[in-house]
Amino acid sequence: MIETYLMNYEKALQHNIFKIISQSAKEIRVDCYVIGGFVRDFILKRGDAKDIDVVAIGDGIKLAKQVAKNLPTKPKVQVFKTYGTAMLRYDDIEIEFVGARKESYSEDSRNPKVENGTLEDDQNRRDFTINALALNLNVSSYGDLLDPFNGVEDLEKQIIRTPLTPDITYSDDPLRMMRAIRFATQLNFTIERESLHAITKNSHRIKIITKERIVTELNKILESKKPSIGFLLLEKTGLLDYIMPELTALKGIDEVDGQRHKDNFYHTLEVVDNISKNTNNLWLRWAALLHDIGKAPTKRFSKKVGWTFHGHEFEGSKMVYHLFKRLKMPLNDKMKFVQKMVFMSSRPIVLAQDIVTDSAVRRLVFDAGDYVDDLMTLCEADITTKNPKKFHKYHNNFKIVREKIIEVEARDHIRNFQPPITGEEIMTTFNIKPSREIGLIKDVIKEAILEGDIPNEYEAAYRLMIKEGKRLGLKAINKND
Ligand code: ATP
Repeated sequence: MIETYLMNYEKALQHNIFKIISQSAKEIRVDCYVIGGFVRDFILKRGDAKDIDVVAIGDGIKLAKQVAKNLPTKPKVQVFKTYGTAMLRYDDIEIEFVGARKESYSEDSRNPKVENGTLEDDQNRRDFTINALALNLNVSSYGDLLDPFNGVEDLEKQIIRTPLTPDITYSDDPLRMMRAIRFATQLNFTIERESLHAITKNSHRIKIITKERIVTELNKILESKKPSIGFLLLEKTGLLDYIMPELTALKGIDEVDGQRHKDNFYHTLEVVDNISKNTNNLWLRWAALLHDIGKAPTKRFSKKVGWTFHGHEFEGSKMVYHLFKRLKMPLNDKMKFVQKMVFMSSRPIVLAQDIVTDSAVRRLVFDAGDYVDDLMTLCEADITTKNPKKFHKYHNNFKIVREKIIEVEARDHIRNFQPPITGEEIMTTFNIKPSREIGLIKDVIKEAILEGDIPNEYEAAYRLMIKEGKRLGLKAINKND
């Protein structure tokens, strides 16, 4: 519980930048306030903020320039004319200046008509009461809190609420629906009932928001401590159907002849929460979110074996590409990483269900390469069984797999495998041109190493090459000839 009645707001303004802003504002005769996330995070004690938003009752750009003039470092002011904002950096802090404004919206765009306004107008246009808090920077009332919508009380009650009617707030700018859910996830707050209704009602309006902005919010949800909070809200409000139907398709449990499969949507969310305890790697978290998406299109039932999802890993990895493309996410090595994780996501568990052999581990390391540790982290998170016996068995086997990975790696150097005998060497040894036999010999050597029949060393591989060449009817020429 935060004890705001004892709070000294002037303490939030200790950094010398605030005094300089205050002084600069006085010089050009405008009033100004710190507003939004900085104030919210100070009250929540969320650590040192690196972003400060300053609203000027007047020309924000002029204020930014005056501040820059008064700062010892004379930073460059970046002006965004279309938005009427300006930004400068000082002491690792990004400070954004904007003139107070009044906004009015039209049906088909989230970009409002903007006019100059008062502080009150500016607070009215903010998305949530907890984001509308302002601290006075004017010399006469320095450090006074301006909280017209009881945002502090909402911080105490841990509630996300809009300053004005929720229906209008979300319809005006549907991005706010994503932001509400993102803040609820990051702060572990509850979205007020009326807001939740309004989001559900307006969920279809998410279509007017650019994919890039949606993904920014999704990433923030995924980077939170417990991402399932956000995805459950996205599902409940209907937003997820518009954004990622691949995930909602995983919902539900089918039953035929008394045989049921698990609900793969809730399972997925459990996996995402699990993995978030062990990694901050955003892309590994994406992999956890998408690891089962191939299960919806591959689901089959047969009387003999019950429910199956054959090939869902391959299907899922193809779907990753389409999903990334649709959401305008990068189609680069990050996407390939997610694809690879999804594609290989069943491998370690299959391995861990049985006796863990060296050769199976070597094959895993060979296929996963540098990603083998990430893959193990994903697969450990994938253990959501409620059967304690199985839970312990799988975790224990994964421990053995991890130990064996280290052991096998130290001995055989399988990660980023380079064949000890090159195609070039095979050609010169048998005096042959590029041909099928070269591939065959290389495969036999690779298989023998992975099986553990020979060590990953030149001498042993050379001997096997000669033997295999002979079997194929090739004649080795003497090196000394
Ligand atoms: P964080 O830095 O964690 O994202 P923040 O609250 O600083 O949190 P910003 O996106 O930087 O978020 O926005 C700064 C402030 O601008 C917010 O606190 C809020 O007052 C206002 N704001 C941002 N986006 C919107 C929006 N879509 N509608 C209304 N107000 C908004």
